[in-house]
Amino acid sequence: TERLFGGFRRTSEKLGENLDGLFGKAALDADTLDQIEEALIASDLGPATAARVRGRLEGERFAMGVTEAALRKVVAEEVADILRPVAKPLMIDAFPRPQVILVIGVNGSGKTTTIAKLAHTLTEQDYSVMLVAGDTFRAAAIGQLKVWADRIGVPIISGAEGGDAASLVFEGVKRGTEQGTDVLIVDTAGRLQNKAGLMDELSKIRRVLGRLNAAAPHNVLLVLDATTGQNALKQIEVFGREAGVTGLVMTKLDGTARGGVLVAAAEKYGLPIHAIGVGETINDLRPFAPEEVARAIAG
Ligand code: GDP
Repeated sequence: TERLFGGFRRTSEKLGENLDGLFGKAALDADTLDQIEEALIASDLGPATAARVRGRLEGERFAMGVTEAALRKVVAEEVADILRPVAKPLMIDAFPRPQVILVIGVNGSGKTTTIAKLAHTLTEQDYSVMLVAGDTFRAAAIGQLKVWADRIGVPIISGAEGGDAASLVFEGVKRGTEQGTDVLIVDTAGRLQNKAGLMDELSKIRRVLGRLNAAAPHNVLLVLDATTGQNALKQIEVFGREAGVTGLVMTKLDGTARGGVLVAAAEKYGLPIHAIGVGETINDLRPFAPEEVARAIAG
């Protein structure tokens, strides 16, 4: 778990630092409650989570002051309550086939790696998978996805750099339908510096998909890099509404991330969290286990 949950442990440590000196007082007065609330916010858990914990502490009237252990227990319980409703495995319906998963996120978020991990996981579960290299703006992204497809042993639809992503998607659905593919995973461009262009392209892909099958895309996954902290929240704001995001995958929670941001995201946006990334190999996608994560964060 050390390696797996490094990002959550960092939040737990940060919490310890921020709480330092607050315990051992005779009573849990308003001043101490303020400081605890601030410590929780400074640990990335978000203002709403901090207010919930404060409410619990007030309600339970710790007449003799609160110990760090008791506080961490309250944090674990509140965080678990926030995370439980958003912890939802990715659902793949049997019909219509192929089920289309559109994967979006800014460059560097871990989008390509997450697609590889997802393709591997689904293949292991006996789904047939096909990839579409729809990030046509980066030759490197096309190349990288081809390498993964080869390694995992799944077919990939790709074109030249600068090509039209929507026509690749069209081709993917056509071939997927012919071959009876269960799941089509579509990579998309992630140039946030050209947001209007990006959103236009996503709507074009959606239009093409909608014409083939009104319910497609069946999932729109937003990949977020947990090491970017508050920026990750900003990306939910930007993409969430316009791109019709149906669920999140948060990556790099093995490393230097402060995983508390995941709690802030859950509390603020309530979007399903399908999985977390805890490393760079295809075996490093984990189901999102709220209790386990809450315990790791609370310490
Ligand atoms: P993209 O630009 O969004 O497609 O991002 P990539 O998939 O190329 O990932 C960017 C970098 O982050 C690569 O070096 C990946 O190996 C790395 N990466 C992706 N996911 C994870 C993760 O869960 N943990 C760690 N430690 N690194 C990751």
